[in-house]
Amino acid sequence: MFNLANFPHKKATVLGGGKSGQAVARLLAEHGCEVLISDENTVSLAEPSANITLETGGHTEQVFLADFIVKSPGIFPGSAVLLKARELGIAVFSELEVALSFVPPNVQILAVTGTNGKTTTTTLLGKILEKKFLRENLGHTVSVCGNIGKPISMCVNHVKTGDALVIEVSSYQLEDSTYFHPHIAGLLNITPDHLDHHSGMKNYIAAKACIFKDQTKQDIAVLNAADGACAQLAEQIKSEIWAFSAQPKHWMKTDVFYDGDELIFSEGSHLRPPKLRGIHNIENAMAAALMALRAGATAQDVQAAFDDFHAMEHRIELVAVVRGVSYINDSKATNLDSTITALKSFEKEKNIWLILGGRDKGASYEVLLPYLKEHCRCVLSIGECMDKIEKELRGVFPIVRCTTLEKAVMYGAQHAQQGDVVLLSPACASFDQFKSFEHRGEIFKQLVKKLV
Ligand code: ADP
Repeated sequence: MFNLANFPHKKATVLGGGKSGQAVARLLAEHGCEVLISDENTVSLAEPSANITLETGGHTEQVFLADFIVKSPGIFPGSAVLLKARELGIAVFSELEVALSFVPPNVQILAVTGTNGKTTTTTLLGKILEKKFLRENLGHTVSVCGNIGKPISMCVNHVKTGDALVIEVSSYQLEDSTYFHPHIAGLLNITPDHLDHHSGMKNYIAAKACIFKDQTKQDIAVLNAADGACAQLAEQIKSEIWAFSAQPKHWMKTDVFYDGDELIFSEGSHLRPPKLRGIHNIENAMAAALMALRAGATAQDVQAAFDDFHAMEHRIELVAVVRGVSYINDSKATNLDSTITALKSFEKEKNIWLILGGRDKGASYEVLLPYLKEHCRCVLSIGECMDKIEKELRGVFPIVRCTTLEKAVMYGAQHAQQGDVVLLSPACASFDQFKSFEHRGEIFKQLVKKLV
């Protein structure tokens, strides 16, 4: 467990100078540390500080002069710099646990993880707790942070006793943490993703399971009973389990189910789900509701937040209908499972022109085939992994090699008929052609707006 008091010399190295690396460096500097940020690439400091030094373009021996190291999630666990730090006996912590060590007592910590649905669920959970705090009128607030784009290190200074922290956590952050103790932890699903980073599915599941590792009997675990990998973890969990399922088939007893219209809770409440597309969003709503109810929200708080909630940007987001063709931005679908989820959320009309591709994540595109056959007219392939997509789908499903997003949108616009859908749900990372999935989604939206 990280405790700054164990490091009286207060000399820290932060590996990785991205947003969370810089935020944790500032937090440590504010607590009297002398910090070196070391990054292999070129970065610059957003807010220079007297106690923070930056080295870029590689890691020098300076790194190892620290009492402890904070690892950014992007640094590969087997990288030479980490191996050497461990050889030298230097303690390595995650940004998550370092930041949380500065949180005052009696702050409720809620954490959400899963392969898909984290951001939607985390955001919705934050909205429900906002309703709760508003109703209670005691001046407490909720901070939503973590993998969602706002590092925890940027939030902890504003958190007061009685507040709540809702944290989206990735498998990388969980894997890197020596200690992480959320009072209420939710696991949405586990399907293949980041397998290259974790060296396989077994390690990936083990990383996700870390969300429950330091919980006690007094804590709460919320699980998806319809997800085999989640349900299997139930045996190892020490905290009190609350399970949800939006599917008819599930592996354990559930505390909430969906009757096709309402969410029915074992405690007796019946709630209308948020107006979002797809059964996956019913699952996200169930998880957020179960977590919030355990955190003291009422069914009315949950319903009020559900009623206000709208589709999130880059997640099956309708951009425009142009000459009868709907253009939908699901740029956040960065793995195969989320693309399958998007396809399943449409009627079985075979009217989708699917823009697929980008930087490959290691799994086979063949798993898409049944869904392509059910929902799509054609795949418009883009990006670095076009050859792999073609190798796996050519001859069994129509593909047009478009190379760029711009050409794919143009092709879709020229060939789609009234009532069709042009869907960007690429199943791949964006970094081959874009800065981020947000950038990819923005470009898609700009291209569609040009068609208008
Ligand atoms: P994350 O933060 O885990 O990437 P998001 O909430 O941003 O998740 O959703 C990303 C994409 O994942 C969505 O566009 C959707 O296609 C898919 N998705 C969302 N929720 C779920 C879920 N519960 N199960 C499966 N897929 C989902």
